[in-house]
Amino acid sequence: MGPVLESLVKLQEVENQLKGTKARLARAKRAVTLQENQLRSLVNSLEEKQHEIKLLKAEIDSQSLDLKSRDSSLEKYREALNLAKNNKEYAAILTEINLNKADNSKIENKILELMKSVEEQEALCGELEKEIQAQQAKVDEVKNDSKDKITEIEEKISEIQQQWEAASKGIPAEVLSLFQKLSDTYDGEAIASVEMSNPRRKVYTCSGCYMTLTNEAVNKLLTTDDVFQCPSCSRIVVLEESFEH
Ligand SMILES: [Zn+2]
Repeated sequence: MGPVLESLVKLQEVENQLKGTKARLARAKRAVTLQENQLRSLVNSLEEKQHEIKLLKAEIDSQSLDLKSRDSSLEKYREALNLAKNNKEYAAILTEINLNKADNSKIENKILELMKSVEEQEALCGELEKEIQAQQAKVDEVKNDSKDKITEIEEKISEIQQQWEAASKGIPAEVLSLFQKLSDTYDGEAIASVEMSNPRRKVYTCSGCYMTLTNEAVNKLLTTDDVFQCPSCSRIVVLEESFEH
C-alpha cells in the first residue's frame, strides 16, 4: 500500500473514533432532553387544567348571575301575590312562582356540580404541581450529572478532531473531499477492504457491499497507490495488510 492509501486507512480509524465519540455526546445530551421533555409535558397538562378551571369558573359566574336575576323576579311575583285581586289571579301567580322555583333549583344544582368539578380539577392541579417539582429536581440532577460527562466527551472530540487534521495531512484535497462525501453517505464508513470470498477460485469482494471485484482491480491495488472505488458502492477500496494474493 502506498502513502496515500495508508493515510486513508489511518484517517478511517480516526474517523471511526470521531463518529463513536460524537454518538456518545448525542446520547449524553439526549438523557437531559428526555427529562426536559417530560417536565414540559407536565407543565402543559397543568396549564390545560388551569384553563379548564377558568372556563368552569366563568360558567359558574354566568349561572350565578342568571340565578340572581331570577331571584329578583321571584321577589316581584311574591309582591304581586300580595296584591292579587282574586283567587284566579292568585293561583296563576302561584303557579308561576312554583315553576320559577323549580327552574332556580335546577340552576342551583348545576352550580353545585360545576363547583365540584372545580374542586376536582384543583386537586389534580395540586398533584401536578408536586409532580412538576419532582421532575424539575430530576432535570437538575440529570443536568448536573451529565455536565461533567458532556464536557469530558466534548474535550475528547476536539482531541480526536486534531488527530483527524493530522491524519488528513498528505492526502490530496480531492481524495479527502471524496473520503468525506463517502463518510457522510455511509455513516462514517468511507473505506472498504478487499475480501477473498472464495480462496480456491480467487474471488474477491468489497467488504462494504459484498459485490465482486475483478482481479484486475485487485492487481491495481497491489501495484499502485491510486485511489480505487468499488464500482458498486463507490467506497474507497484498500488491501488489508494481511491480504494474501
Ligand atoms: Zn462495494
